[in-house]
Amino acid sequence: MTTIRTTCTTCGEVELMPGELSLELTALSGTGAYLFACPTCGDSQRRPANHRVVSILLATGVSYQVVDDPDRITESEIARFSASLDSGNWIDQLLG
Ligand SMILES: [Zn+2]
Repeated sequence: MTTIRTTCTTCGEVELMPGELSLELTALSGTGAYLFACPTCGDSQRRPANHRVVSILLATGVSYQVVDDPDRITESEIARFSASLDSGNWIDQLLG
């Protein structure tokens, strides 16, 4: 069984099961933060997750949700934009 080793700010090193963590993914960057309750002191912890941490957590089956930064453009806007690029007449759309 996979365990994930991380640290609690109070207790130091702790081991968690994948089901005890949750991951917040930022759609565009592929990074985010992971959250867990320390099994020793019960404290809620929130840690930044870089690309490597994100891929490790996803590989171990940690549940995740995608969070959008409201100041950023959304995935659907990007999809629409790249679709209009693919269509080859984007310059017409810009001018039109
Ligand atoms: Zn703790």
